[in-house]
Amino acid sequence: MDPSYPPAAERYREEIRALLRSHLPAGWSGIGALPPEEARRWAGEWRQVLAANGLLAAAWPAEYGGAGLTAVEQVVLAEELARAGVPAGAPNDAFGIQMVGNTLLRWGTEDQKRYFLPRILSGEHRWCQGYSEPGAGSDLANLSTRAVLDGDEWVLNGQKVWTSAAQSANWIFVLARTDPDVPKHQGITFLLVPMEQPGVEVRPIRMLTGASEFNETFFTDARTDAANVVGGVDRGWAVAMTLLGFERGEAAATNPILFRAELDRLVGLARRRGRTADPLVRQRLADAHARVEIMRYLGLRSLTRFVAGEAPGPEGSVFKVYWSEYHQLVTELAVDLLGADATEPAGRWPTTAFGTDDVGAPDDPASWVGTFLNARAGTIYAGTSQIQRNILGELVLGLPKEPAGRRGTWRELQQAP
Ligand SMILES: Cc1cc2nc3c(=O)[nH]c(=O)nc-3n(C[C@H](O)[C@H](O)[C@H](O)COP(=O)(O)OP(=O)(O)OC[C@H]3O[C@@H](n4cnc5c(N)ncnc54)[C@H](O)[C@@H]3O)c2cc1C
Repeated sequence: MDPSYPPAAERYREEIRALLRSHLPAGWSGIGALPPEEARRWAGEWRQVLAANGLLAAAWPAEYGGAGLTAVEQVVLAEELARAGVPAGAPNDAFGIQMVGNTLLRWGTEDQKRYFLPRILSGEHRWCQGYSEPGAGSDLANLSTRAVLDGDEWVLNGQKVWTSAAQSANWIFVLARTDPDVPKHQGITFLLVPMEQPGVEVRPIRMLTGASEFNETFFTDARTDAANVVGGVDRGWAVAMTLLGFERGEAAATNPILFRAELDRLVGLARRRGRTADPLVRQRLADAHARVEIMRYLGLRSLTRFVAGEAPGPEGSVFKVYWSEYHQLVTELAVDLLGADATEPAGRWPTTAFGTDDVGAPDDPASWVGTFLNARAGTIYAGTSQIQRNILGELVLGLPKEPAGRRGTWRELQQAP
């Protein structure tokens, strides 16, 4: 692990800080401090600033609208945006830029890159992720959404679930079964599907907080152009795995900063509520402090590999388990500090269902309780804690692999043994 930054990276940090100073109003303490309506409007304007400076998809080559940043510059940029409490893009950008955009750069045809990438950056295309299904989550390769070629179009039938941000998306990348008569990891195709058509229906799922950030997505004879295949027909599994690597990447740089800001806010809450003399509260705050420091070093270990251009290793799984379980612990402490106020939470709810509330968020009970409820999902999405521990058991500890289960084609496996 190398916790230092080369001088060129520190110069780049100054450039980003100067850009932030020139755009952020005086007294800025993070987007969370703005009332929700104003925060939405400001985030839209800020997205345009990032796009105009090539910083929305900063790692992309300049010819596709990026800034061609080096790995260490990408890390510095992510850190500075997180520290300033400004978003790195709109909610659908995580799917559009980080996931499908990066995947197209790796697997897409030149025509696909030229068509899709500018539309992602302009915001004309807003993406979501159609991987999980009722019978395919951890065992993703078991998916059963079917796609059949009909002339020059694919016809899709089936159901996806937990589709985050589908309510604001107009394109979805879908893993579909195109050949059921081969083993389950084969015969899967990665398809780009427009959502504004009668064959695609999005039904919101109500979450614990009462918000609906994710959805069920139904395909009934939905259609997409035959050319909207990424990586080849029946060869979508490798594409899907590339994309998951992008899904799990960025947090190593930003989470330690965001969790530190959140913990500082929690210490403030404890002080205001006169709880910092309580030895048990002090012990839990100290424990949280130590965990955020450990998380910072775990993040640096991932980033060291990333900056050196090495493929992500099992440390990504250590990091995912660590931050998601930490977040459940620390938000339980927040609810304990709120006491009875947590039972009927007043004030502003978190503006995102993922991770911490925005930097600068008010100390409202609803912000903490909402974040506590949202943190329950952290150990599920992007690979559950059990699956991460399986990976660690096999790759790090060298424990025996899980039993392989029945063999056969996907169609055979659907039948009872
Ligand atoms: C907030 C949120 C947002 C999401 N957003 C999206 C999205 O945008 N798009 C999308 O496609 N999906 C999304 N997901 C789905 C997510 O990827 C799945 O929930 C996850 O992969 C787990 O799958 P599952 O829910 O089907 O649980 P299952 O796979 O059915 O697992 C149930 C339980 O069994 C355990 N388990 C399963 N297999 C094993 C095993 N082999 N060994 C040990 N334990 C095991 C799991 O750890 C879990 O505890 C989202 C999920 C959440 C919670």
